[in-house]
Amino acid sequence: MTIQRKPRLTHAKVHRLKRLLNMNYKVTEIAEELDIATSTIYDTYIPAGMPCIQDEKKHYWVNGQDFCEWAQQFVTTRQRKPKSMMASNQAFCTRCKTVIVVSSSRVSQANYNGIVRLSGRCSICNSKVSRFVKAKEYENDRAK
Ligand SMILES: [Zn+2]
Repeated sequence: MTIQRKPRLTHAKVHRLKRLLNMNYKVTEIAEELDIATSTIYDTYIPAGMPCIQDEKKHYWVNGQDFCEWAQQFVTTRQRKPKSMMASNQAFCTRCKTVIVVSSSRVSQANYNGIVRLSGRCSICNSKVSRFVKAKEYENDRAK
């Protein structure tokens, strides 16, 4: 069984990569720089789209600057929160274990972070549900 693993890049590691020059590095050198096993590069980094070239002897070469740029992008896109798929009149009901429409909803005052608390009842089982929503998002949805 093979598990597709994702590169475990952190901001700290990416920061270290800024030392890399605009030249081709061996995979072993990159592995050393990141303090990981060479096989990890082959198993996770290359499948994840790490920029590299293969010479006629099938050896991989990695451009230091290209790799650094890719790694930075990788770290920032991965850590971006997935956009909520819920509409502002929806919430997750813990009893129904699904996203439901909130009925007789009330919205609290926005707090200092611009977050409102949406509370009401599950339209299926009528139990109390509540959810925090960005006030802006809520207003945008209302305006639609
Ligand atoms: Zn429910």
